[in-house]
Amino acid sequence: MKLLIMGRPGAGKGTQAANIKEYYNIPHISTGDMFRQAMKNETKLGLEAKSYMEKGALVPDEVTIGIVEERLLEDDCKNGFLLDGFPRTIAQAEALDAFLAKNGVKLDAVLDVNVPAEILVRRMVGRRVCKTCGATFHVEFNAPKVEGICDNCGAKLIQRPDDTEETAVNRLAVYDQNTAPLLDFYAKKNLLKTVNGDQPLDKVFEDIKEVLGK
Ligand SMILES: [Zn+2]
Repeated sequence: MKLLIMGRPGAGKGTQAANIKEYYNIPHISTGDMFRQAMKNETKLGLEAKSYMEKGALVPDEVTIGIVEERLLEDDCKNGFLLDGFPRTIAQAEALDAFLAKNGVKLDAVLDVNVPAEILVRRMVGRRVCKTCGATFHVEFNAPKVEGICDNCGAKLIQRPDDTEETAVNRLAVYDQNTAPLLDFYAKKNLLKTVNGDQPLDKVFEDIKEVLGK
């Protein structure tokens, strides 16, 4: 099973990636982890990426692609993988395509865990957290017994500064702008499988298994 997973921030992609990893027994390759690993192991590309990040610069595509390729050539990816957070641009998608073709590998599917942006905004804006014990609540979907007070420890609940409507709307708009061309790219290759992410997590995973084949 060779897969990519995509989804708007907050759509529950992380949970589903963990489910897929376990159920299909394939490595979950997230770009963040890969970068950390490459830097820790001080691979040539890892060091290169580090030098850009230390300057506060964006890591160029060829370095990112190189790190992904190194990872995909490792033994545990022979029978499958789940790529997460890559590709982010059409240029990266094309590079990945060329790399896979060169190695005789075909993607089975590109999963999009789809939750409409309006719903994600509502989820984020209503979120309240307890600074004392870390519990999370939601004013609509998981309200505390007493408004503004943590059920666990009685401390005051706060709204995180980046959970405002403006931040949420912006983040999602940026994501959609960058991702729409990628979704098109994979739809044209008949690889895109869209799953409704706006339902209970176990139901979302049932749908994923349905589209991927059990
Ligand atoms: Zn608390």
